[in-house]
Amino acid sequence: MTSPKRLLNAWGLHPRKRLGQNFLADPSIADTIVSRAALLPEDIVFEIGAGLGALTIPIARAVKKVYAVEKDHGIADLLKTELLASKLSNVRIMEEDVLKIDIGERIDADGGKIIVVGNLPYNVSSQILVKLIASRKTIHRAILMFQEEFAQRLTAVEGGRDYGRLSVMLRYCSDIRTITSVRAAAFHPKPRIDSRVIEIRFLDTPQYLATDEAFLFSVIKAAFGKRRKTLKNALSNSTLPIDPATILTALESSGIDPSRRAETLTVQEFVALSDRLLEVERIEVS
Ligand code: SAM
Repeated sequence: MTSPKRLLNAWGLHPRKRLGQNFLADPSIADTIVSRAALLPEDIVFEIGAGLGALTIPIARAVKKVYAVEKDHGIADLLKTELLASKLSNVRIMEEDVLKIDIGERIDADGGKIIVVGNLPYNVSSQILVKLIASRKTIHRAILMFQEEFAQRLTAVEGGRDYGRLSVMLRYCSDIRTITSVRAAAFHPKPRIDSRVIEIRFLDTPQYLATDEAFLFSVIKAAFGKRRKTLKNALSNSTLPIDPATILTALESSGIDPSRRAETLTVQEFVALSDRLLEVERIEVS
């Protein structure tokens, strides 16, 4: 691996903070990620934010095909040259914004599911995760690198400050585990904090299945929208089109104290509340 600093200098490019460009500069970390990800020769990988190819190249050597999305055209041109030099022909570079791609439609997975890999740009990590959850029918698992503080929020359990909307959404539809930690010094330019690689295995069926998943996710969003307030107040003062009396009835009849806060609810309780809200709504309308 040529050092990112040297490569960028040779091409007259500069890391763009706005695009979260902290490039992996330690090839041993890339190798660790690829081996712990247990990729197979028949796998189809969708890589988000390929950058200079620190992960793209070792992944392409291990799998059948890589779809590598990179928004920065200058970086994508550099990556194409690096791939040619590596004699790899199984990588398709997509010079696009990942947030605008319909993953299910654009990736040919030979009828199977894809594996998503990425050292994600920090500023759009949440949006990308929400998108992956929505597209999970076509995704087997995702191996993603995040800044440590963000990773803590994803793996947090109920009762703590880190537990939030994404922790609950991921717990609802996946098994999640840490693969490895990566120190800040392994990147160029060096970020402020360390990173962590996480594997998200999407479940075929959630353990606690909500009647209406989109509604469940909007209840979770509303509850954490005002996380310092009680659930009753947070939900009543949200964009949910449900009146406060109905919210109170649903909370009480699902056995959830209305004075609790969102961060204390388990996934099972969120599902029970969301289903109950739908039922009570229906009863009150009819
Ligand atoms: N994978 C490379 C590595 O590990 O060295 C680069 C990782 S860097 C943290 C994130 C990369 O994502 C950058 O190359 C950046 O240009 C790209 N990127 C940022 N926002 C993007 C977006 N919305 N869609 C696609 N790529 C994006």
